Amino acid sequence: MRTVLGDVPAEQFGVCDAHDHLFFGSPRLPGEELRSASAARAELVAFRAQGGAGVVQWTPYGLGRRAADLPPLSRETGVHVVTATGLHQAVHYTEDTLGALRGRLAEVFVTELTEGIGTSGVRAGLIKVAGGFHALDAHAVWTMRAAAEAHHATAAPIAVHLELGTGALDVLDLLCGELGVPPERVVLGHLNRSPDFAVHRQAARSGCYLAFDGPSRAHHATDWRMPDAVRALAEAGHGDRLLLGGDTTTAAARSVNGGAGMPYLLRRVRPRLALELGEELVRRILVDNPGRAFAVAWPDRVVPWPS
Ligand SMILES: [Zn+2]
Repeated sequence: MRTVLGDVPAEQFGVCDAHDHLFFGSPRLPGEELRSASAARAELVAFRAQGGAGVVQWTPYGLGRRAADLPPLSRETGVHVVTATGLHQAVHYTEDTLGALRGRLAEVFVTELTEGIGTSGVRAGLIKVAGGFHALDAHAVWTMRAAAEAHHATAAPIAVHLELGTGALDVLDLLCGELGVPPERVVLGHLNRSPDFAVHRQAARSGCYLAFDGPSRAHHATDWRMPDAVRALAEAGHGDRLLLGGDTTTAAARSVNGGAGMPYLLRRVRPRLALELGEELVRRILVDNPGRAFAVAWPDRVVPWPS
């Protein structure tokens, strides 16, 4: 795993929140930005107190990752942190930001994975991209093509925000079918937001990882289906492809601000799922699966980028 403090063997990573955010800010959520380093530190301490050992932050390029703040937070709290490169949906960016990335998006991803984010020296460990609602628009196709190129140069995993949990099969057709990314290097996120168990099974049959997250006030209507959805996938033989995360995206959702936050994953989701799956499978989902999903045999040398 490529953490913000360097590469860590997957076996040493421990209990992992496979999809969350320490820092995040989008013009779409004004006033709700995750910006406070002290709140992020307190959240990691609370997560660690529940037995948490690692967090994978899915915040992509340009959305307030605060890469330079991540190493001291990880060091001070003793929690491994993996951070992302990648690009979210177009609505999260200005035209100027997107214009400046035209023609060099894959190169930006590779640079952030292998050299570092900005001048921080902190390297990303995954590529985060986003689909659309039951379809992929031109922006999604552009970012996924760049993500696939960056994957082929580095072997980094690609984590996908599925809009309201939809579009899983379109994403797999593009990334794995057309662009040749091995399914076991793809993590689909937010499947709990569209609890169509048949589609979940179809996606899982490809061999990709399926990430369930929350709880979320915005997605309360479907969040309660998560234990059944996870059990159905486990019963269909896909227990080794399941991942769990908290996906804290607003300040109010942090546990230190009175929300569920990161510790909820271990405090309530873990025992709830143990009722469905047994303790041993839940342990594997929290420890072994993220160790495989996000582990990378980083190439010694990335092939120089064609200009
Ligand atoms: Zn997220």
